[in-house]
Amino acid sequence: MTATRPPVTRFAPSPTGFLHLGHAHAALVAWRTARQGRGRFLLRIEDIDSTRCRPEFTEAILEDLRWLGLDWDGPVRIQSRHMADYRRTLLSLRERGLLFPCFCTRSEIAREIAASASAPHGPDGPLYPGICLRLPPAKVAARLASGEPHALRLNMSRALACLDGPLTFEEATRGRIACNPAQFGDVVLARKEVPASYHLCVTHDDAEDGVTLVTRGEDLLPATDLHRLLQRLMNWPEPRYAHHPLLADAAGRRLSKRDGAPTLRDLSARGASPAEVRALAGFPD
Ligand code: GLU
Repeated sequence: MTATRPPVTRFAPSPTGFLHLGHAHAALVAWRTARQGRGRFLLRIEDIDSTRCRPEFTEAILEDLRWLGLDWDGPVRIQSRHMADYRRTLLSLRERGLLFPCFCTRSEIAREIAASASAPHGPDGPLYPGICLRLPPAKVAARLASGEPHALRLNMSRALACLDGPLTFEEATRGRIACNPAQFGDVVLARKEVPASYHLCVTHDDAEDGVTLVTRGEDLLPATDLHRLLQRLMNWPEPRYAHHPLLADAAGRRLSKRDGAPTLRDLSARGASPAEVRALAGFPD
């Protein structure tokens, strides 16, 4: 039934640099899908990490999208202005015993992993080896009382125990896919330096904004397993997903900032029109 409803899609860039052709492709996928389905297209700026994000890039993103010919519905959601929402979500999980504080430094975790016989990896890197889960409660309480900086991790086994049925998601053109959130282990939901995480904020905001169809690059396909778990734990509605292949250059390498993908600004400075850039991004008029 939901398949016939006008979709609500979104584009959710992080303002860590200027938009490149890969971003233009992702934005156009979401925008076209909404417009063709007479739905809504939302824009969200994922800027919770103040060490990497800059307001001038946010301004540039809005300007570049307008230049490209995209319009969006309603106000832009700027994640950094909604930290209280994420805090509330964390509190709800914490009150149900689904989070635990983690005081570990990166090097403590690396040392523990190096010393252990097996070091399973998940989509975000090596799985947390459970150091702070083994701390006696009195020690945890004392360290919290002393104000020691800590992250908050999801207690994955407790979270999985809350599920009352199989966890799946609906992927456009592929149908229902089974999720395996355990592959993330005790994932961080609030970092020491940023009191939230990508996984937490993205699922919160998709629910808050009524996003019904998440279009995004297929590099984020594994993350969907975890996002579905968070949606189930929080009793948030389930959107549909459409992961698209990432745009590649002529040599077949995927476009990324690191590999010097041309930004929309570079292309415009070289004289490319918005229609030409849309075509380069896979959407000829
Ligand atoms: N902010 C993420 C990125 O720039 C996208 C998140 C998403 O679409 O779920 O890669």
